[in-house]
Amino acid sequence: MGFTDDGHPVQSAGMLRKALQYQRLCGGVLALHEEDRTLSREGSIHEGPVSAALGLSGIPSLSESTMVARDAALAGYEGARVHFQHLSCAASVEAVADAKARGWRVSAEVTPHHLLLTEEDVRGMNTSMKMNPTLAGEPDRAALLEGLRAGTIDCVATDHAPHARDEKEVPFEQAPMGTTGLETAFAALYTDLVRGGELELELLVQRMTAGAELFGLPAPLIAQGQPANAALIDLDARWVAGEHGWRSRSANCCFAGRALYGRVMLTLAAGSVAHREQALERVAVA
Ligand SMILES: [Zn+2]
Repeated sequence: MGFTDDGHPVQSAGMLRKALQYQRLCGGVLALHEEDRTLSREGSIHEGPVSAALGLSGIPSLSESTMVARDAALAGYEGARVHFQHLSCAASVEAVADAKARGWRVSAEVTPHHLLLTEEDVRGMNTSMKMNPTLAGEPDRAALLEGLRAGTIDCVATDHAPHARDEKEVPFEQAPMGTTGLETAFAALYTDLVRGGELELELLVQRMTAGAELFGLPAPLIAQGQPANAALIDLDARWVAGEHGWRSRSANCCFAGRALYGRVMLTLAAGSVAHREQALERVAVA
């Protein structure tokens, strides 16, 4: 259904142009991790007051936003279709809004951590807070949330990136980038944004399920005779992220230890059970 350069962002505009020309022949969406490596270099945190205070080399937001603008223009020129992964700053949201206003075929996503955390959360140098793109400033977080509300950003995606304990238990600068997010995505967003009065539940559900259609898959539909694609959620369930371990083999979650509301009890995908909460498993076995 698509192709991605995640992990190895396309640096050359000419190379991406060629890829877009091929895409027009073979279809599929090009999903892009936007990062100019001549700007991000060896940085391990967002370039700003916190990187300065900690004495860590920073990555300027420009490293992402200039590439979003470049690739949107290339897609517009070639009449091709691109999707921007995990946007992290206000300038990228502006570039996407501009591209959409011009009628270029672009879409974008944002992660729960970029919607809920900022560079201030990195002050403790917890390596679970080290991810790529980095957590930026509060004005960036606010712009991402506004972009999601307005539809400039089409959907939420987790950028789930598991790492082994020994990989992350090293000095901050040496740690690999990435946080897990699948197990906390709904609850973290529901707790802070919906219960916090910043986002309607209906809109959160729409944005968390909109990804399928963007990639040409059928839209989620609950209807008689159709394969079930649904999630059963206990909105009142209160839990502490990671308190009883993780389903993932990795524990590098930036929301670990947070008290959250909303627990996904059951997930049905294409007609079969994809995930069942342990409490329900016990009931099922009994
Ligand atoms: Zn990426």
